[in-house]
Amino acid sequence: MRQEIKPNTDRRKFLKEIVGCGVGLTAMVGESGSKIAGFPLVEPLEKDQRESVVVDSHQHFWDPVALKLSPPPQNAAVLGRAFLPAELHQEIVKLGITSTVLVQGYPQTDEANQWLFRQANAAEYVRGVVAWVDLQAPATVARTLEHLRKEPKFVGIRHIVQDEPEVNWIVRDPVLESFKELAHHRVPFDVVVKPDHLKNVLKVLDKVPDLSIVLDHIGKPNIARGGSSGWAEGMTAIARHPQAYCKLSGMVTEADWHEWKPSDLTPFVKHATDVFGWDRVMFGSDWPVCLLAATYQQVWLAIQECLGEISRERWNRVFGINAVRFYGLKL
Ligand SMILES: [Zn+2]
Repeated sequence: MRQEIKPNTDRRKFLKEIVGCGVGLTAMVGESGSKIAGFPLVEPLEKDQRESVVVDSHQHFWDPVALKLSPPPQNAAVLGRAFLPAELHQEIVKLGITSTVLVQGYPQTDEANQWLFRQANAAEYVRGVVAWVDLQAPATVARTLEHLRKEPKFVGIRHIVQDEPEVNWIVRDPVLESFKELAHHRVPFDVVVKPDHLKNVLKVLDKVPDLSIVLDHIGKPNIARGGSSGWAEGMTAIARHPQAYCKLSGMVTEADWHEWKPSDLTPFVKHATDVFGWDRVMFGSDWPVCLLAATYQQVWLAIQECLGEISRERWNRVFGINAVRFYGLKL
């Protein structure tokens, strides 16, 4: 039987501080690259079997010094250094991934946006940046979006909703007003929430039907515990809205960090593809946060294993076309 551990508040705080990737309470810290029992040997498709564009729709960079981040506790030490474009480039070229979308984290400030754009502009493979805007100040959102639009790689907005103490934060009036501005400017929104928030995501979709949203990390079911109540129903209801997409990302850190195997993720991936279909799901690594439980390559192989034998056409959508279409990536 799996040993349950108490949440490590320091670690969780650190994760919140860097990327808003709080993890499941039963998740256990793993060393980067630790051996994972039962890991399959699945080869990625050969280069000539793929579209020329292969996209990782969700990755982060950070630098604790430049962004003034707190040091992590020892058990998350693997994340306590800078993660910058040259390192990710080495990971993706091995797998034939051509392009990525860089997603904001902490701190959520205009200065951090500028830091992200500088990293992206120095890395040709980064084709989009999902930045931050103060959604609680709708009067300033339009002006900020005008500024962000001057950045050629700006493709979307995220706010780390899951860390807002108030569960109804996302449906507060000023935030809904800001979502209307995003919709008006045709800027998509990355939603990072836990299963408890899915009902509120539905309300947003009802109230702002022109807003394109993508659900980060498959809605964060507690994979280590075999799921979360309301998750499957919430996903089904959200997927009925054609402007809602889903990222197949961030799953290994919701699973048991030491003992996960691809088959733990499969039912969640299957439900997502069942309800969203093959045109509205997209692969994301969540690197470097994934390093708590798996290497980049292990995440990549796991998603191939979860999807099983799918047609080349479907594969090309999940690993490229859908992200390009959703974010309007310029290639
Ligand atoms: Zn992330």
